[in-house]
Amino acid sequence: MAARVGLTGGIGGGKTTVADAFAALGVTVLDADVIARRISEPGTAQFERIVEQFGAGIVDEQGRLDRAQLGRIVFASKPQRELLESILHPPIRAEMHDRAARDAGRYCILDIPLLVESGQYREMERVLVVSCSRDVRVRRLRRRGMKPAEIERVMRTQASERQRRAVADDVIDNNGDPADIEPQVRRLHDTYIELFG
Ligand code: ADP
Repeated sequence: MAARVGLTGGIGGGKTTVADAFAALGVTVLDADVIARRISEPGTAQFERIVEQFGAGIVDEQGRLDRAQLGRIVFASKPQRELLESILHPPIRAEMHDRAARDAGRYCILDIPLLVESGQYREMERVLVVSCSRDVRVRRLRRRGMKPAEIERVMRTQASERQRRAVADDVIDNNGDPADIEPQVRRLHDTYIELFG
């Protein structure tokens, strides 16, 4: 049974980059977004429920969920967002905890964008936050081609830097150079091995 280290951070903050650095050290990384996509493929119970609730208009020509359109709907409406979360979060949560329980490592990383907002941080042995100022995140996301209005919509649904840091056991600062990430990850890896060994 591996201890659960919940990893989170605001959009554009570098959470994925940090998760990749842990994976490079051989740590199991369970990604909530990846699980969400898999469990809502055509043919799954979640796919059926989403189509039932959001209408056939969110299915693309290949018969899959049009995730960009679904994203636009849920980021613009809290009730719709909660509806989608009520369909997806319970099975994602169950799968993550189950896989952590069966993992042979000392700890694993549970990469969960809404760890703080959903209250799931309480179920983790440890909470790790990737911290990066809002301005820097907006700049990086714009460079990646995201529109300001879209960035704003997503950020409005997320906790603030202050709220995330308030529940963090550990913080990785990613305001600086990408090369600064790896040494911070290595240090934390040593800490976790010691804590959960
Ligand atoms: P998240 O998963 O938190 O949304 P990503 O890890 O995908 O964030 O990073 C967002 C974008 O910023 C990516 O294009 C990534 O390559 C880039 N990025 C991450 N860290 C840095 C950094 N320290 N300096 C510059 N760009 C960065």
